[in-house]
Amino acid sequence: LLALQGATVRFGGRAVLDAVDLEVAEHEIVCVLGPSGSGKSTLLRAVAGLQPLDAGRVVLDGRNQAGVPAHRRGVGLMFQDHQLFPQRDVAGNVAFGLRMRGEPKRQQVERVQELLALVGLPGAGRRAVAALSGGEQQRVALARALAPNPRVLMLDEPLGQLDRSLRERLVVELKELFGRLGTTVLAVTHDQGEAFALADRVVVMRDGRIAQSGTPLEVWQRPADAFVARFLGFEN
Ligand code: ATP
Ligand code: MG
Repeated sequence: LLALQGATVRFGGRAVLDAVDLEVAEHEIVCVLGPSGSGKSTLLRAVAGLQPLDAGRVVLDGRNQAGVPAHRRGVGLMFQDHQLFPQRDVAGNVAFGLRMRGEPKRQQVERVQELLALVGLPGAGRRAVAALSGGEQQRVALARALAPNPRVLMLDEPLGQLDRSLRERLVVELKELFGRLGTTVLAVTHDQGEAFALADRVVVMRDGRIAQSGTPLEVWQRPADAFVARFLGFEN
């Protein structure tokens, strides 16, 4: 469904993404792990069309995405800090992408209700986002990202701001939700517990390269090298 081929991004001569090859199959949940600065967010932004490549390409459904603007790629992106629109209510936030696409009003309203039920916030449409808890805001951001039915849903630290017990609960809910919808997901996290709970496949990044890619069990049982082992918290 999605492929990066030799994807390279340089900032000031330094390759932040260094010839990355990565494929994501339909319905697959891939979690990208790695230390701060290893290029995880840059990878997502490149797929989303928010970060031009210096070399290589992004292929979606067999089509090279070079020159295809972000809003035409059919990918959803939920940012590290989810950035809801504070002046709009919950429904206004969720409907954002639908409005951008010029969907008829009545369809928007139905879809928003459906999405809010999906993320466990039925009937919350008229609430002010400022009055929501962190976990509730996260759910609204997720509903907003899911609204246009993206071919690939990309999540950058989706549960980053939340406390541990809430994260653990939401991860289980997300896994169940994505399984039910058949959503293809490319998620970034620096929390390995989260990645291992959510992912069909885990990708560990180091300095703009993929250090290892495998099922959670494979990566856990056979770290590819000392870096991955250390990153996973094993001694030497
Ligand atoms: P974190 O876990 O902290 O979010 P990350 O893996 O998402 O880290 P990126 O945001 O992809 O890391 O950044 C990778 C590297 O690229 C960092 O060293 C960062 O400083 C650099 N970088 C990112 N965006 C830019 C930019 N617009 N201009 C210059 N350097 C950048
Ligand atoms: Mg990041």
